[in-house]
Amino acid sequence: MDIYGGSIKFLPGVGEKRAQSFEKELGIRTIYDLLQYYPYKYIDRSRFYTIREIDTTAAHIQIKGVITEFNLQGEGRKSRLVAKFSDGRDSMDLVFFNKASYLMQTYKTGVPYVAFGKPKFFSGRYSMVHPDLEPVSENNIKGFMPLYNTSENMKKHSLNTKAVMKAVYSALLKIQPGDVFETLPGYLLEHFHLPGLYDSLRQVHFPSDARSLERVRFRLKFEELFYVQLAILKRAAAAKGRVNNHPFLHIGRLFNDFYHKHLPFELTNAQKRVLKEIRADVRSDKQMNRLLQGDVGSGKTMVALLSMLMAIDNGYQACIVAPTEILAQQHYDSMSRQIDGLGVQIRLLTGSTKKSEREEIAGMLEDGTLGILVGTHAVFEENVKFRDLGLAIIDEQHRFGVAQRAALWKKNIRPPHVLVMSATPIPRTLAMTLYGDLDVSVIDELPPGRKPVMTRHIYDAHRDSLNRFLLQQIQSGRQVYVVYPLISESEKMDLKNLEGGYDYMKKHFPDYEITMVHGKMSPKQKEENMARFVTGHSRILVSTTVIEVGVNVPNATVMVIENAERFGLSQLHQLRGRVGRGAEQSYCLLVSGYKISAETRKRLDIMVATNDGFEIAEADLKLRGPGDLEGTLQSGMPFDLHIANLARDGRILQLAREAAADILAKDPMLEERPNAVLQRELRNRAKSIVNWGAIS
Ligand code: ADP
Ligand code: MG
Repeated sequence: MDIYGGSIKFLPGVGEKRAQSFEKELGIRTIYDLLQYYPYKYIDRSRFYTIREIDTTAAHIQIKGVITEFNLQGEGRKSRLVAKFSDGRDSMDLVFFNKASYLMQTYKTGVPYVAFGKPKFFSGRYSMVHPDLEPVSENNIKGFMPLYNTSENMKKHSLNTKAVMKAVYSALLKIQPGDVFETLPGYLLEHFHLPGLYDSLRQVHFPSDARSLERVRFRLKFEELFYVQLAILKRAAAAKGRVNNHPFLHIGRLFNDFYHKHLPFELTNAQKRVLKEIRADVRSDKQMNRLLQGDVGSGKTMVALLSMLMAIDNGYQACIVAPTEILAQQHYDSMSRQIDGLGVQIRLLTGSTKKSEREEIAGMLEDGTLGILVGTHAVFEENVKFRDLGLAIIDEQHRFGVAQRAALWKKNIRPPHVLVMSATPIPRTLAMTLYGDLDVSVIDELPPGRKPVMTRHIYDAHRDSLNRFLLQQIQSGRQVYVVYPLISESEKMDLKNLEGGYDYMKKHFPDYEITMVHGKMSPKQKEENMARFVTGHSRILVSTTVIEVGVNVPNATVMVIENAERFGLSQLHQLRGRVGRGAEQSYCLLVSGYKISAETRKRLDIMVATNDGFEIAEADLKLRGPGDLEGTLQSGMPFDLHIANLARDGRILQLAREAAADILAKDPMLEERPNAVLQRELRNRAKSIVNWGAIS
């Protein structure tokens, strides 16, 4: 049986329609795909409960007993059938709505049944609503019953968890050990005492007991994380091995001039340390691949600028790429101001750069007169060619994908040194997986004199006092951000929401200029409006999250976040980072309605309690699991994870990483015979790479 090529549509109970639904909704086409669709949870049907043992906080349970009497209550559509169910000692109610007469004919009193469902306690009695009821027999499900996630669309084709279970079950009936290729080399299985893939696939869907389930889950998680690490470490080795790069041998005139005469402030110790780390990388003859992590406002941009000057001093060009036009513009403005008079040419290239200017930039890039190119993803385009790019910097790395990083490497015959910067603090386990091929520097210190932002959670109903507070701030010369989330499916609705907020602010603050910025504006309009705020003409900026990354207006002291319940923790933290950049006390005000979920409340409480980005990232990972984080960070992952969980499986990740590193140390190209399987798997998995981080 060919499980790799064989379509699931031939499985009993699947067929053409459902197979299409499987493929469309979950990307499952072959039997092997299906077998890799692991249950998200199991129900323990390995034992029977007695009614006395019922604990209503537990999930589903099964009880053996007999129906002692039927009771039809109510009439017509509102009728319900209550069956008294006794386990010989105690009794409970099985409750069914509608189809009463049919059920009374189907089920008999005095016959032993297994009732399976979620128990409830109601007016003094235990009950189960719509339990599964089956006569006691050889065929009752034993052991653990798998539960599968299915989408709304799948349910429309009656593909619920039970249907998936049946499909998996019939697939497993058909396969033999010889049909499944082992995906891990024998020596790894032996060394870690791992069960084989064939057994693992059977057991993970229908485990015989809790221990075997643990064992096979360990193996499958290990395998996933192992290949992720193997891919990353192999890539890292290849990059590190690239010699004859661009050694920046000396610190030159530009750097020194700037450092001693133009630097607007003393660098923090953390900035100095990081610069030294970068310096050590770039002067060697190996390519730098460094991640610079630093909380919002920690001063990464200045480190970037100084590093670029090092490149130019040594006769190379440099570029910095930002995820949004606003941010690129801002980098361009502040950098051209800062290096004014040094004689370095700097230009901005974005999607909206005019053709004539593009051509001019292209010319300057190719003849080498352009020292620094600031831009958006437009820089990645193939026709952008440098004479000799020595350093490429990517700002807000989490918005970009590995593929884009790779595109930058190709901008030169000799790949440039690469510095990626991120304000998204990433917990260690995640960092190891996502950025396993990068060396990491951390700016763990904010510039002096910053007052921590004061954060408050405010209810909608208290808008009047909020407005009074805003007025007070504006009157004393400060500026205010008001941010709206993208809350609806339709962009039109979002815009209406935002425009409503804009009108509201105009009505309440008639004496001040207020501007609005959102993603649907023309870049030119956006830029103009933004400029009004940056220059201080406009006092209130009403916007969507387009300002989330990077924007720097030190005079803005208040960040109002509307519908704060709609934002994730890391986004809230990013937004908060827009204020607290000047000497004045700053505020972050999270506005929500009264009705918020317990989880939302926790999120907002964390924001109020701490300003520490790493603490927030850890909390985020715990609250949400890495699933959502991966949404933004997915771009860094070489493969999708089906079963491993980065928040919980840190220990397995560590083991997998060590195993992968060991293997590569002994056999860097994976050429030895027992490692053929590794080569094959890396190739197979690479095929399933999805959607390299779209830039938002
Ligand atoms: P981020 O790390 O979030 O990109 P920025 O580089 O935008 O932060 O820096 C935030 C603000 O702090 C900027 O206004 C910058 O000029 C200022 N800044 C950076 N380094 C220092 C420093 N060592 N001392 C004082 N201000 C600094
Ligand atoms: Mg920044």
